[in-house]
Amino acid sequence: MNFCTQCGARVEFRVPPGDHLARHICDACGTIHYQNPRLVVGCVPEYDGRILLCSRAIEPRRGFWTVPAGFMENGETLQQAAARESREEALAEVEVGSLLAIVHVLHAQQVHVFFRATLSRAQFGAGPESLEVELVRPKEIPWPQLAFPSTEFSLRRYLEDRAAGREPHHFTSLDRRLK
Ligand SMILES: [Zn+2]
Repeated sequence: MNFCTQCGARVEFRVPPGDHLARHICDACGTIHYQNPRLVVGCVPEYDGRILLCSRAIEPRRGFWTVPAGFMENGETLQQAAARESREEALAEVEVGSLLAIVHVLHAQQVHVFFRATLSRAQFGAGPESLEVELVRPKEIPWPQLAFPSTEFSLRRYLEDRAAGREPHHFTSLDRRLK
């Protein structure tokens, strides 16, 4: 951030009095611009033993596969966000189930939340952000072509849990800043 979104003056990056982290500060209008992690919400939709996957039509990771997921909007719940992303990316109506995974993506300043879900019927298609949408059997999942580590984490936990007949939730953290 270089300029204040309130008044257009140049901002400085420093620790405000009484704070412990550097913030973008506008000395012209006094606004302190706090930046906090963004929520990405998705689900693993299943139908008849198969998983709904989308290949991405947009960057980052265009052409790679993922489950329906995207940025949460104001005024919706996590479950509503997961269902909306399924409608937008896969033209699919899903019933959102139990919490599957929370992935702290520290290097991207994001928190990814995934739910289990079921497809109400075998109706789906490619939304504007998808190249292709497919129902795939677990053994057909293109692991090396998955878009994001959080997608892989969620899919692997989903399949392990399903095989074991349980629905716990999982936490993990990814931090590429360390490498
Ligand atoms: Zn300002």
